[in-house]
Amino acid sequence: MKKVVSYMMSFVLILSIFLNAAPCVNAAQTELKALPEVGQVVAGFKVQEVEDMELIDSKTVLFEHEKTGAKLIFIQNKDTNRAFDISFKTPAFNDTGVNHVLEHITVSGSQKYPMKNVLFTILNQTYSTFINAFTAQNFTTYPVSSLSEDQLLKLAEVYLDCVYYPSVYNDKNIFKREAWRYEMADNKAELNISGTVYNEMKGALGNISTAAAYNDLKTLFPNSTQSTISGGDPDKVKDLTYEDVIKTHDTYYHPSNSLMVLYGNVDYQRFLKMIDESYLSKYNKKDIKIEKLKLEPFNKTIEKTFKYPVAVGTNTQNASQIDYCFPIKNMSDEDLLGIAVLGELFGSETSALKQEFRDKKLGGDILINFNTGLSIPVLTFSVQNTDESKKADIKALVDKYLNSIVKSGFKSADVDAVLAGEIRGLSNITETPNLGVNLSTQVGSFWANFDSLIFTII
Ligand SMILES: [Zn+2]
Repeated sequence: MKKVVSYMMSFVLILSIFLNAAPCVNAAQTELKALPEVGQVVAGFKVQEVEDMELIDSKTVLFEHEKTGAKLIFIQNKDTNRAFDISFKTPAFNDTGVNHVLEHITVSGSQKYPMKNVLFTILNQTYSTFINAFTAQNFTTYPVSSLSEDQLLKLAEVYLDCVYYPSVYNDKNIFKREAWRYEMADNKAELNISGTVYNEMKGALGNISTAAAYNDLKTLFPNSTQSTISGGDPDKVKDLTYEDVIKTHDTYYHPSNSLMVLYGNVDYQRFLKMIDESYLSKYNKKDIKIEKLKLEPFNKTIEKTFKYPVAVGTNTQNASQIDYCFPIKNMSDEDLLGIAVLGELFGSETSALKQEFRDKKLGGDILINFNTGLSIPVLTFSVQNTDESKKADIKALVDKYLNSIVKSGFKSADVDAVLAGEIRGLSNITETPNLGVNLSTQVGSFWANFDSLIFTII
């Protein structure tokens, strides 16, 4: 299970709003199941919208489960690498990593499948092409894919049992194993803390770039769900209690707070029937409030310095990282596209920004990252292997280039080159490894961050 610091929304998906790429299908030419019409009810799910997703030669159907309000998007095409995904909105209010711990716990056995590690068991016993779970700041998602429709149906059923009926309710030891516990090798040994998530996050935060990314967010968005370490800060993971995990599950793991995605050439009716009969029909609609970010307008530059621990004797010369960040509010889809193109132009190895950066010897490299996996996207200029004394020069360099772009723009040949590269990528989109899983998790991220279902704009 992998902690995802943040999701980069696919540039390709945004571009697809503007471009008309030729659809390309790489799959068996088999008959697709006829789709229902708007207003029709299938196994308790009412059809809200039916749309085309031309870019990947697909049709999409948005269903809403009448009894619970659960949403399900069916992306129908001829791809035989079929996928299923369920996501819940799970805002992270602190650094205890409660959602990450819960993600581990849900795949540690359920009422019907009381096995120690569901993921490893499935990986070893099925033809699944992908199975994992991810936690981000605002949501947790459980994607799975398979070349066999029968197996995908079974895998979806296992995942639903795990998320709705995890064994942790009857076995507190699962919490101790996955979150944290005290441990002594023998009666003379030192008292240690261990636990899967505790150890995993100790490793994840032992990297200066990851630590810097969290420090950036904590500076930009103090006291908000956008700046918490959703995977968990090891120092805070040990504050987490069994009761916290149960309460979080009880609050957020409810069909009314869920989005499912079904992808590929599948008989959707079989899936809807299983989902409704075995799980959703047992629930009633619940009003679940998801806290929205309340951020003060940003009206001046904030500067902060953070320490990063290293082993005794480590050479710390030119070992710092300097990030210059711009949170970008109220962006339209066109703005998102524009900023993404801007990031590409700045980040190109031949850009004037990079050239002057190298000439002035300001550090190892300057990287440009546009993080749209957040409710308020952030554009970051990040300099690695540099020294704190170069801070002012780095800021001046970035400011100078931003100003020059405002005044003079880019050479149209450079813009054309970036767009041509993206269009080339688009023409191969259906060759993306495991497109179903990629699309599903991105749709989940969009839904959690922007209350939006991305397929409506594709
Ligand atoms: Zn994990």
